[in-house]
Amino acid sequence: MSNLTYKKVLIVEDERDILQLVKHYIEKEGFRTVVATSGLEALKKVSEDKPDLVVLDLMLPELDGLEVCKRLRSAPGTAMLPIIMLTAKAEESDTIVGLELGADDYVTKPFSPKTLVARVKALLRRADRTPETDPDLYHYETLTMNLSRHEVSLGKQEVTLTTKEFGLLEHLLRHRGRVLTRDVLLNAVWGYDYHGTTRTVDVHIRRLKQKLPLLEEAIVSIKSLGYKLKDVDEPG
Ligand code: CA
Repeated sequence: MSNLTYKKVLIVEDERDILQLVKHYIEKEGFRTVVATSGLEALKKVSEDKPDLVVLDLMLPELDGLEVCKRLRSAPGTAMLPIIMLTAKAEESDTIVGLELGADDYVTKPFSPKTLVARVKALLRRADRTPETDPDLYHYETLTMNLSRHEVSLGKQEVTLTTKEFGLLEHLLRHRGRVLTRDVLLNAVWGYDYHGTTRTVDVHIRRLKQKLPLLEEAIVSIKSLGYKLKDVDEPG
């Protein structure tokens, strides 16, 4: 955990009470904080203070959270900056847009500060991890995926996957810990010109779980949004 201290978290929220609450809990964990109360100020703070993670409220004056997220993702220096969106339950469609624009995670208001802090830590830990040395290899517990050889194995046992199952698994592994909407998965694996429905994704997720039982618990369905492959060290 020690390598996580001194990380800097930018909190963007226009409601002062929530801002203070979030700031208090994040600082209690030993992180440094920077705050912004509008979308424009958030962009300014990102470039001036170089935070390691952004907690971004959706409803903000000037520029809303979606626009901020989109701008951060489209700039090379901040394309990979971890972002957690704060959304309200009523804004579910905005949550989906947020995830499609590249937010890494979201927390629904009203939230417990503990949950938010846990997500912040999980995301920072993930961002901190050195990438796997061989870009062609993915490891997940006993599962190994070799992209160039198009092979998947569980321990020493090779598992045969169809092309789509393989593509789906690759996408989940590459973005582990992140919520992926059915549309994102459909476009990534089947392509934009595919005319099937998002049910296709559900069917293939089910088949992947049948072939790779260790994914049964690891791939979680996120309400009406989509799926997430949990990080190996991520709590339930
Ligand atoms: Ca707000």
